[in-house]
Amino acid sequence: MKNQQSLFESSPEPWELDDQPQVMIATVVFSTGPSQPFDYLIPDELISQVVPGRRVYVPFGRSNRPILGYCVEVENRPLTSRKIKPIKSVLDEQTLLSSRMLTLTRWMADYYLCGWGQVLEAVVPAAVRGKAGTREVTLLSVSSQVATQLPALKLSPKQQQALQILAVSPRPLTPPELAQQASCTTAPINELRKKGLIQTEIRRVSHAHFDDESHEREQPKQLNPDQQAALAVILESVGAENPVPILLHGVTGSGKTEVYIQAIENVVAQDRQAIVLVPEISLTPQTKQRFQARFNQIAVLHSHMSDVERHWQWKRIAAGQVDVVVGARSAIFAPTPRLGMIVIDEEHDGSFKQDSLPRYHAREVAAQRARLEGIPLVLGSATPSLETWYRAKSRVYQQVAMPSRVGNRPMPYVRTVDLRVEKNPNSRGAISRQLYLAMRRTLQDEGQIILLLNRRGHSTHIQCPACGHVAECPHCEMPLTLHLEIATANCHYCDYKIKAPNHCPECQYTGIRFSGIGTQKLETEVRAKFKEWPSIRMDSDTMRKPGSHEQALERFRSGEVRILVGTQMIAKGLDFPNVLLVGVINADTALHFPDTRAGERTFQLITQVAGRTGRGDKGGEVLVQTLSPDHPAIEAATRHNYQMFAMKELPFRREFMLSPFAHMIRIVARGPQQSQVELFLGELADKFTQYAAEQKLEVQLQGPAPAPIEKLRDNYRYHLLLKSVSLDAMRRIVEHCRTALSLPKDVAWIVDVDPLDMM
Ligand code: ADP
Ligand code: ZN
Repeated sequence: MKNQQSLFESSPEPWELDDQPQVMIATVVFSTGPSQPFDYLIPDELISQVVPGRRVYVPFGRSNRPILGYCVEVENRPLTSRKIKPIKSVLDEQTLLSSRMLTLTRWMADYYLCGWGQVLEAVVPAAVRGKAGTREVTLLSVSSQVATQLPALKLSPKQQQALQILAVSPRPLTPPELAQQASCTTAPINELRKKGLIQTEIRRVSHAHFDDESHEREQPKQLNPDQQAALAVILESVGAENPVPILLHGVTGSGKTEVYIQAIENVVAQDRQAIVLVPEISLTPQTKQRFQARFNQIAVLHSHMSDVERHWQWKRIAAGQVDVVVGARSAIFAPTPRLGMIVIDEEHDGSFKQDSLPRYHAREVAAQRARLEGIPLVLGSATPSLETWYRAKSRVYQQVAMPSRVGNRPMPYVRTVDLRVEKNPNSRGAISRQLYLAMRRTLQDEGQIILLLNRRGHSTHIQCPACGHVAECPHCEMPLTLHLEIATANCHYCDYKIKAPNHCPECQYTGIRFSGIGTQKLETEVRAKFKEWPSIRMDSDTMRKPGSHEQALERFRSGEVRILVGTQMIAKGLDFPNVLLVGVINADTALHFPDTRAGERTFQLITQVAGRTGRGDKGGEVLVQTLSPDHPAIEAATRHNYQMFAMKELPFRREFMLSPFAHMIRIVARGPQQSQVELFLGELADKFTQYAAEQKLEVQLQGPAPAPIEKLRDNYRYHLLLKSVSLDAMRRIVEHCRTALSLPKDVAWIVDVDPLDMM
């Protein structure tokens, strides 16, 4: 590592010797403050404690104020700089990051263009950094040397007695314990400590424990031939030298989870661990149970875990006591000591990309971790991301297909309902006549129904018919959504809300109109049309309380509730054999977003939700209401034809230099003054162009232009897109220009490598 200490201008210190002896030097990175690493001298007394992966306090700047950093490297080398400063102290008794995790995080910092220290701070949970659930205790003991001299020592009777008791105690005692046993105060004990007759050790102990209840066990299922073939491919790569990632492309209900589990059983039998990543919303009790029924030691990492439990689980995992870690995105950083396999279920899911610093994609990080550890990565999906699909087609990844459902159940029959021609004479609601009839039939057949609508709230549009005024958020300029239950109009981009208007605030007309349908209104319509059948709604408004998700699904599973209405929250992973009908209320909600991935998202969503039916013996049917039945994404989804979708989409991606054919870096700047933001990004774009030309780097620049969400929380937003086949070229440009341009006071900007969110 480069020595950066020459930046300091402090005077030479006694430890700065001239004859250049070998010394121990630590490289330290910081999560805040300096973005580059600095070298520090390790004083002799700290040599055993300063280890890569622990945090240390080091003096910084002219004032030498102590700041906290991560030691990432320790090296024995000649002392060349006169100005190197010594580490002050070590914060962690245990290593927070193994050398492999250090390598991985360094790669992340390079790839995602952020500081190594920032990555480390994001990778080690705050609960672990804060040592949640542990406390420090002082333990006293007597050395054998002192013990033999004990009768000869001149001490007060109280001191004599305390020392005597401690000398014969079978274990070290805390000061209050010793005081109690010796029937004295802590004063004589402190005297003994001052005289150096008592040894003091400070140890951190955990006071937390979380016992897992025992679980019903399940035997492995007899695999069908497709599953066997898939398992064989995975197991072959478990023993391989440098296995490549495997795409397990299996239709919904093809039994992918059983394949993952049997592959992991094999890994665990070799005394190694596995990490299973699932989308955040699939982290349901059902998922947990499936793994608990098959493995003794699992850790489920979820977002509403207490800090104490998170730290406890982390330590169990680091100690190698956990066989399988199941969790969302950040579980990829689980500190498993002997990792044997990584599985990502629903690998195409957008929740694997983090939308705050460091903006990593867990799939890419997993691929890197698997490569470093020399282990297989299994990517499962019915609708693979085009990135993964393309890599499999180009034979960079291996691929296995499971084209049919378990038990050869047919795929559900999918029909589109063309909303342009379909008219419902009975109502102007969201449920078309065809869907209404299908729902009646299903309910009479004792079946259950899932209705998907990807918009929450009651009415998504509030407008005055007299003057045309649309109710908007003053901070985001986005339309407000009516939430009838709480009688408010809310902004879905910030926390702004007002009392639901009953007249137009502009012209005072009293007939203000609410239109556009959200899940709340849909639920009302369902209740009115199907009075005799209980229904339930699942969206982020009704599922606020912890445990509400589980309760709702349990009521649906038990059959008490016959109709489940919800947002995309219900589109994934649910395995209920009695769901005989799925209705997609509006397939177009995601289709017309100003985003190149709109088609892909629509295809995935319809395929996923369609996969919730036809899971039992009674089959299943799907009705997709749409204004664009001929759209390729919708057409391919109705035919369960991934290939058809990919073949339409890939040429388009190639033509416009989009992923997977090129890389993209998106830069978003925001600030309260529109002109300032625009000007800043304009200057940045000029710098980029200039540097690219100088260095002959082939990079396309798009923008700057207002972002689709032009204003958010009182900040104007502009974005700039860089595209290139060479991510490296783009990274060089951004890295260079980042330092060359000073940021106006009120403007902030972010750099998003391989962006998913284009809003
Ligand atoms: P996927 O994840 O591919 O959508 P699942 O793993 O949820 O599919 O499997 C669908 C259903 O089939 C589950 O209820 C599962 O228990 C069952 N299943 C999987 N494999 C087998 C098998 N070999 N024999 C019988 N049932 C199976
Ligand atoms: Zn707002």
